[in-house]
Amino acid sequence: SLTIGIVGLPNVGKSTLFNALTKNDVLAANYPFATIEPNVGVVGVPDPRLAQLAGIFGSQRLLPATVDFVDIAGIVRGASEGEGLGNKFLANIRESDAICQVIRAFKDENVVHVDGKVSPKDDIETINTELILADLQTIEKVLPRLQKESRIKKDVGPKVAAVEAAKEILERGDTLFSQGVLQGSEKAELLHDLHLLTTKPFLYVFNVDEDELTDDAFKDEQRALVAPAEAIFLNAKLEADLAELDEEDAMELLQSVGAEEPGLATLARVGFDTLGLQTYLTAGPKESRAWTIKKGATAPEAAGVIHTDFQKGFIKAEVISFADLLAAGSVADARSQGKARMEGKEYVMQDGDVVEFRFNV
Ligand code: GDP
Repeated sequence: SLTIGIVGLPNVGKSTLFNALTKNDVLAANYPFATIEPNVGVVGVPDPRLAQLAGIFGSQRLLPATVDFVDIAGIVRGASEGEGLGNKFLANIRESDAICQVIRAFKDENVVHVDGKVSPKDDIETINTELILADLQTIEKVLPRLQKESRIKKDVGPKVAAVEAAKEILERGDTLFSQGVLQGSEKAELLHDLHLLTTKPFLYVFNVDEDELTDDAFKDEQRALVAPAEAIFLNAKLEADLAELDEEDAMELLQSVGAEEPGLATLARVGFDTLGLQTYLTAGPKESRAWTIKKGATAPEAAGVIHTDFQKGFIKAEVISFADLLAAGSVADARSQGKARMEGKEYVMQDGDVVEFRFNV
């Protein structure tokens, strides 16, 4: 499955956040015998539709979609020079599908900042500079060979042009992602085998003081620093406390700081979206479940997430949109109201489709 790597300078609250994430580990809750890797936190994507489906179908359990967060050893200035920890760090990032930067905004004088002062803007620059330098090194290693090759093989031309364009962006100090050269995009396709770090989607977690959680002016300022990447604001210590509480007490604590949901819930949802993922739903007396697919996936591809045989033997899918099903109150009523559609192989799945697949075995 796709993973989000958590990175950040030392002492910004990464471990605190990661501990809160692992306390919420849905694998541990739902699959007691699953092997859980120490540096991976598997978090459920909150989805209120599951409880509503369970109401309709009498489901015994709810299984949300999940996002995997990987704790990556702390970045240090000079990581791109590839010494010791630096190498391992870059290798770990290369394996992640998105990069979540934890940025310190909390002021606590008892917690030392590596650079002596709390400045989200400087910290973001420090981290991005390391990633940009690493990408430039990768490019400088391959570009001369590609240029030489393109003099003989004409079809290498577009690739050379793409690599040169990427180099220019990086030399300006911009990440490729921020300039629209995003993994999977047409522009990035030619760069694919270079495994550049800054083509990965970024998201930013600002670890803020509690009073900043509701400070819109402050939050807008930080958002502007990282756009087009998403920004999430949370207090890591508060998240760690929330993870220890039952639902009622957690709600009370959240309300006392003016927050609507735990920051981890927001993080899971935004992370899922940043990875380019969406869900479809299945329901029955056993379970109501959200399944993970890529945005734009077709019905057979969606079926394949449940079982490869479902994809191979796919005939059609009976699809009811969640809103229609909720309004009708049951599958039978949705059908008699003409809200159940039979979709074929070309159908592109929509968020909130409630699905039953028909297939040959
Ligand atoms: P890491 O080095 O990035 O993994 O940072 P840690 O999670 O170990 O946190 C470093 C220190 O900052 C610890 O003493 C934490 O208790 C403290 N810390 C983490 N998050 C917060 C926060 O939101 N507010 C305050 N005041 N301290 C925090």
